[in-house]
Amino acid sequence: MVENVLERPVAAIAAAAARIVGDEYVARDELLTDASGLRGVAAVLARPADAEQARQLVAWAYANDTPIVPVGGATGYSGGIVPEGPLPVLAISMQRLWRVRSFDPLLWRIEVEAGVTTATVARLARENGLLFPPDPGAPEQSQIGGNLATNAGGPHAFKYGVTSHWVTGVEAVLAPGELVSFGGPIRKDVAGYDLRSLLIGSEGTLGLITAAWLRLTPAPAQTIPVVAAYATIEEGVEAIYGALASGIVPAAIEYLQGTALVHAPPPFLDADGRQFVVIAEAETEHERDELLLALGPAAFAADPREVWRWRGGVSLVVRAVRGEKLAEDIAVPLDRLQEAIERTLEIGARHGLEACSWGHAGDGNIHSTFLYDPADPAQRAASEAAAEDLFALARELGGSVSGEHGLGALKRGQLLGQWSEAAVAAHEAIKATLDPKGLFNPGKKQARPTS
Ligand SMILES: Cc1cc2nc3c(=O)[nH]c(=O)nc-3n(C[C@H](O)[C@H](O)[C@H](O)COP(=O)(O)OP(=O)(O)OC[C@H]3O[C@@H](n4cnc5c(N)ncnc54)[C@H](O)[C@@H]3O)c2cc1C
Repeated sequence: MVENVLERPVAAIAAAAARIVGDEYVARDELLTDASGLRGVAAVLARPADAEQARQLVAWAYANDTPIVPVGGATGYSGGIVPEGPLPVLAISMQRLWRVRSFDPLLWRIEVEAGVTTATVARLARENGLLFPPDPGAPEQSQIGGNLATNAGGPHAFKYGVTSHWVTGVEAVLAPGELVSFGGPIRKDVAGYDLRSLLIGSEGTLGLITAAWLRLTPAPAQTIPVVAAYATIEEGVEAIYGALASGIVPAAIEYLQGTALVHAPPPFLDADGRQFVVIAEAETEHERDELLLALGPAAFAADPREVWRWRGGVSLVVRAVRGEKLAEDIAVPLDRLQEAIERTLEIGARHGLEACSWGHAGDGNIHSTFLYDPADPAQRAASEAAAEDLFALARELGGSVSGEHGLGALKRGQLLGQWSEAAVAAHEAIKATLDPKGLFNPGKKQARPTS
C-alpha cells in the first residue's frame, strides 16, 4: 500500500498532466465505470497521444506519489478501471494510442498501440485472409491494451487459446517511469524471465501497456456452428463430452442454460421446454459431420452470423430482465461442469434470486448469473452473498474464482483460499518488486482482502 504520501492537490495533478498532454486532453472529476456497474471518480483523467507522453505521465505520478489507473475501453467486468482509495487519482486513458505501427500479413504479425480496438485488429486480419482469434465481447470498445491487461478469452479461446497465446512482445511503462519492451516480432524468446507473460493479465497493477506485437494465423476457410438443444443439464453436458471425445478440435464449445434461453431465445432453434443449448463450431465439412454425430439427432448446422450475433447479445438481454445481474466467470475442471451448473441454480434459489448460466463450456468457464433489481438493496446484498457462495464452490471443485475477468475490485481477496499462503506471498512479492510504492491501480488484483 501507499506509505508516507502527501495528499496532492488535484490542481497540481491536472496542471502536470496538461503540461504533458495539452489542456484539451485533461478532464477533472471524471466518472469511471465498466461493465461491472461499479463506479468511481478520477480526480484527473489524461489522454496521452503516444507512448512517450504516457511515460511522462507515469514518471510524474510516480515521483509525486499519485495513484495511476490505466483505462482501456471500459468493458471489463471486475471494476478494474474504477478509482478507489483516499488519494486523488491520475487515470490514463489509452484511447489516443490508436496507431497500427506495422503490419506484415505475409509474416502473420502486427504491431499495434494499446488503444487500438479488438475489432480493428480482427478486421485488418480478416481483410488479409488472417485471423486474430481472441474474441471477448464488445470488440468495438475493448482495446488491445485492455485485452492484454485482463488476458481476455472468449468463445474461440477453446481451440486458439487466450490473448497471451497471441502476444510475442509487450511495450510498457514500468515504475518509476521507464519505457521497456519484452519480446517483439519474434516467435520464440526464452532469454529472460517471462516478463511479457507477467504483464499480461496484470490488470494495470504492474505497469501501463503502451503497445503489443501480435501473432496472427491464416483464417479458416469457413466456420460452421453445430447447435442442439437438450431437455436436461445432464444430457447437455454429456453432449459436450461427446464433442470433446469426437477426435476433432472444435473452434468453440459454448452452452446456454435455463432462463437465459427463455429471456434471450435463440432465433435459429426452438428451445421451448429444453433447458440446455450447445454450440460447437466446426471449420471444415468433415468436422461438421463429426460434431453432428457427437451432438446427437437434435443437432444441426446453423448460420454463423446468426449464432454469434445472438450469442453476443445474451449478456445484455439477461441483464435487462431485472435491471441488473451479477455475472461471474468461475472456471472448473471439465469433469465438474454439470455440478457447477446445477449448483449455480441451487445457490440462486438459496438466496431467493433467479439464476442461470452460460459460457465457454469447452474451457469449463461458466458465467454463473444472478438477476436482481438494482433499486432493491436486499436483492443486491443477496446477489453478493450468492457470489461468495459461488467462489467457495469454485474452490471446492478445484477450479478458479476467475477464468476471464480477473480479480479487479469485485473479487478482491478471493485468491487467498484458492492459492496457498506461500503462493500468495509470491504474488505479493512480484507486486512489491515492480511497483514498490503501490501506485499502479491500487486495490486491484489484491490476493487478500483489504484489512
Ligand atoms: C458484452 C461483453 C462481453 C464480454 N465477453 C468477454 C469474454 O468472452 N471473454 C473475456 O475475457 N472478457 C469478456 N468481456 C470483458 C472485457 O471485454 C475484456 O476483459 C476486455 O479485454 C477488457 O478490455 P478493455 O479495453 O475494455 O479494458 P478496461 O475495462 O478498460 O480495463 C480492464 C483492466 O485492464 C486495465 N488496463 C486497460 N488498459 C490497460 C493498459 N493499456 N495497460 C495496463 N492496464 C490496462 C485496467 O486498469 C483494468 O484493470 C466482455 C465484456 C462485455 C461488456
